[in-house]
Amino acid sequence: MNSKNIMMHQTVPVYDVADVIIVGGGPAGTAAAISAARCGRKTILLEHSGQLGGMGTLGNVSIFMGVGNVTGIYREIIAEFLPAALPSTHHESIWPQYSPFELRLYLNEKLEKEGVKVYYHTSFVSVIKESKRVTGVIANTREGLRAFESDVVIDCTGDARAASDAGVPVRSGREEDGLTQPMTLMFMMQDTGKPVRPYLPEGCYRYESIEQLPQGRLLHWSTMGDGTLLVNMTRVKGNGAKIEDINYAEKELLRQVFSVAYFLQRTSHPNHILSHIAGQAGVRETNQIEGRYTLTEDDLTSGRRFDDVVAQTNYEIDIHNPTGDAHTDERKLDGYDIPYRCMLPKEIDGLLVAGRSISATHVAMSSMRVQATCYALGQAAGIAAALAVEAGVSVADISIARLHERLAEQGVVFVT
Ligand SMILES: Cc1cc2nc3c(=O)[nH]c(=O)nc-3n(C[C@H](O)[C@H](O)[C@H](O)COP(=O)(O)OP(=O)(O)OC[C@H]3O[C@@H](n4cnc5c(N)ncnc54)[C@H](O)[C@@H]3O)c2cc1C
Repeated sequence: MNSKNIMMHQTVPVYDVADVIIVGGGPAGTAAAISAARCGRKTILLEHSGQLGGMGTLGNVSIFMGVGNVTGIYREIIAEFLPAALPSTHHESIWPQYSPFELRLYLNEKLEKEGVKVYYHTSFVSVIKESKRVTGVIANTREGLRAFESDVVIDCTGDARAASDAGVPVRSGREEDGLTQPMTLMFMMQDTGKPVRPYLPEGCYRYESIEQLPQGRLLHWSTMGDGTLLVNMTRVKGNGAKIEDINYAEKELLRQVFSVAYFLQRTSHPNHILSHIAGQAGVRETNQIEGRYTLTEDDLTSGRRFDDVVAQTNYEIDIHNPTGDAHTDERKLDGYDIPYRCMLPKEIDGLLVAGRSISATHVAMSSMRVQATCYALGQAAGIAAALAVEAGVSVADISIARLHERLAEQGVVFVT
């Protein structure tokens, strides 16, 4: 990086004002927006891309991992979007594969119905702060820089972008060396019903065995019944929130996509064409905020319960090897709570962080990062923001009893 700095002074027009602003429209951000709007708060969602759903659509991560807890807004989404997968009780696991294109459409319509104002192609640039309180954000829009003001901002960027800009300390990856889980470019293949011509573009790799594959294993799903094969088999080391790492990953992962598809065509899937490649690399892990509580491996393995619980999961510890080598650390869990304090940044007010970048260690985030849990965290953050606005108090001072009441009113059922 060049060492020169440039000071930027610019007058930015205020484009919109709301009670609650959500930055990032992935699982956490969409649920946060729905729940805040349902509490009667004017809610704005700013999304960098042209679609909602985050990694679940943009990254083509089109399967929901089982969390032993199909409840709240996540349950509602399953009921409306994938009714055949809805379990009869709140505390069962489901692992449904879905169409990312249909989820994209569903979420657009859902947020519109809920009265959320979504701004697409609007990227967070910086927070607006009064002393230690966040009062809005500046974003890059199709019309240039614009300001958006609010009482509470919820950072659902997955990278803690708004939080780190506000001065909240963030950490990345393993305690010993800071390495994060590797990135994966997800893709789909389609059964054509007849043999296809295997295709290996120049510069790609000819894998001869499963051991030579980037993950050293086969990892794909075809449970939709329509010949779709969802493939999670590429892997590149790096931190997706770093400029050089993501630059390298986008090119190398695409080579791996064509190479893995060619391997599958020559071995197990001779009738499948490469039918869809996600528009961007899938990023598992980048930054975790330092919050009022940090979720740890011990909390997961001991099945810890918290008075300020906002989400529950029994999804396993699932660490794709941060060195990029072919190994995945998978360890079953019985179930644990995630407390509200993991979403509360230290010292800064007017700000919550929901989704995969909450305050958690590398091992703990490997379990809480899956989509259903991010929807649950987002739902709780949206309600907490609304309660803070209603009571005129800091997000750190809301009533946990009221938060639990509202979660229950919005269909969340916890295991006790
Ligand atoms: C390769 C891969 C495979 C996975 N497999 C599964 C799986 O099988 N099942 C499962 O349930 N989970 C899986 N996960 C995990 C899961 O998809 C993510 O952890 C989850 O989507 C995180 O949700 P989130 O809302 O925190 O963030 P994200 O899904 O990352 O969404 C963040 C959103 O914020 C937006 N954003 C980012 N920066 C800005 C900005 N500056 N301004 C405005 N908007 C911004 C992004 O465009 C995006 O829409 C996988 C993840 C990856 C990467």
